[in-house]
This record gives sequence, C-alpha cells and structure tokens, in this order.
Amino acid sequence: MKILLNGVRGRMGQVIVALAEAQGDVVTSALDQGEAASAAAWQACDVVVDFSSHEATVALVQLAAAHHKPVVIGTTGHDAAETSAILAHQATIPIVWSGNYSIGVNLLFYLTEQVAATLTNDYHPEIVEMHHRMKKDAPSGTARHLVEAILRGRQWPATAARYGRDGITGERPAEEIGVHALRGGEVVGEHTVIFAGPGERLELKHQATDRRIFGQGALAAAQWALGQPPGLYTMQDVLALGGKG
Ligand code: NAD
Repeated sequence: MKILLNGVRGRMGQVIVALAEAQGDVVTSALDQGEAASAAAWQACDVVVDFSSHEATVALVQLAAAHHKPVVIGTTGHDAAETSAILAHQATIPIVWSGNYSIGVNLLFYLTEQVAATLTNDYHPEIVEMHHRMKKDAPSGTARHLVEAILRGRQWPATAARYGRDGITGERPAEEIGVHALRGGEVVGEHTVIFAGPGERLELKHQATDRRIFGQGALAAAQWALGQPPGLYTMQDVLALGGKG
C-alpha cells in the first residue's frame, strides 16, 4: 500500500512511518506544516493518512476527493465548520474517521453505549480523560465520542454534555454527562467512563501505553478503505464491531 502521510514529523507521523516500513507498506509522500504534494505524488498514492492538525484536514480531504483517494483521518479537534467541510466529500471517496484507532477504545465505545442504555438515569455518567501536556485539544476526540455513545444509549440531547465544573454549580441534574480533561507528563491516553449509581459505581477504563496501537489501527483502516465504496466510516466498521464511534 502506498501512503500519502500528512503530519509526518509529529509523534503519530513517526509511528506510522516506522510501522508502515515494518509491514512492507510505503510512505510515498510525506507532508508536514506548509508543504504540498505534487500532482504526481497524489496520483501515485493508494490512500491518504492524516495525523496533523485540525486546520489542515479540510484542504487535504478536498485534494484527496479531487484525486479519488480514500482518506483515513486520525487528527482530532475539528470545529463544526471544518467537520461539515470534510463530510461534504463522503459521497466522493471513502473517509475513515475515528477519534481513536485502538481496538480497546473502540470496544469501550461499544460497551459504553450498551451500559448507558442498560442502566437507568439513576446511574450518572461522568468521563475523565488524561493525556500528555503537549496535547492541543480538550477534551480528547475520544472523550467526545464517549459522550456521543452515552447520548445514543440514553437518547439524550447533546445539551446533556457538561464540560468541567467550577464555582457554585448547584446539584447535578440526572440528565448530565460530566466531562473532565486532565493534562500532564507523558500520558499517552487514558479514558474512564463512570456510571455512579445508588449504592454502587461501575467504571469502564482504558489505558493506552504505546502510540503504536493507534498507528496499527490507522494502517488497518487504510488497508480496509482501499476496497470500500465512497462513504463515511469509523473504526467500528473496520473492526466490524457493529457500533458507532
Ligand atoms: P504532534 O503535534 O506530535 O504532530 C502533529 C504534526 O502535524 C506536527 O509535525 C506538525 O508540524 C504537523 N502539522 C501541524 N499543522 C500542519 C498543517 N497545517 N499541515 C500539515 N502538517 C501540520 O501531534 P500527534 O501527537 O502526532 O497527534 C496528531 C493528531 O492526531 C492530533 O490531532 C491528535 O489528537 C491526533 N491523534 C489521534 C489519534 C487517533 O487514534 N485518532 C491518536 C493519537 C493522536
């Protein structure tokens, strides 16, 4: 598989380069900040992989659509305008877009939705995530997907999400999802979903200890995307978990 990689000099970009080499794939074009690929480079690649910065993804997906190449988006932190500009291309090319490419986290998305649907509103969901101090966006893309999993499970409106608490917040309403982002050190990524109920508390916890899990997942998604018709896909589709995330 020939990969056009955006964000090559970043932590994830370097992981992708190493993993691709180890499994016999080739990064035929590697871009970073302010660089552009030639038309020949676009034509030569099979698939585009993006682990860069949210403001870079829209232009990249536009070019991928113009050259009919599937895209795997690893980058997180896109705003609403960027998100809709990216989604506009799903009718033209396959787009795999996951806030987290690890298998464990994708199982966590699935389990979180099931638990949210199974437990009554007396079990109050809270999400706590922790990442290294260099992370640019908060909460993490994964935490946002966990919010969506709970909203689906509970059939709550998006307004139920509450990002952080400070000051005289009053009593916690039953229909609320508290989301808390911790930052520090070199933490690769930790997510805990808490369902605090009457007399008991259930916690689902995932700890990533090595970035390679995301790289392996993204490369598996890239390989999978080669054979897909245009559309929007997630790692749930790649792993055939049957959920969303
Ligand atoms: P990083 O800061 O180490 O690397 C980002 C790279 O992108 C840098 O080399 C930077 O120069 C480059 N870049 C910045 N703006 C650019 C632009 N406009 N065009 C091209 N390149 C640009 O970050 P990282 O830890 O490698 O993470 C990259 C992204 O991937 C972040 O959004 C992060 O949240 C996300 N991420 C996603 C997953 C996942 O599984 N989906 C896992 C880890 C990280």
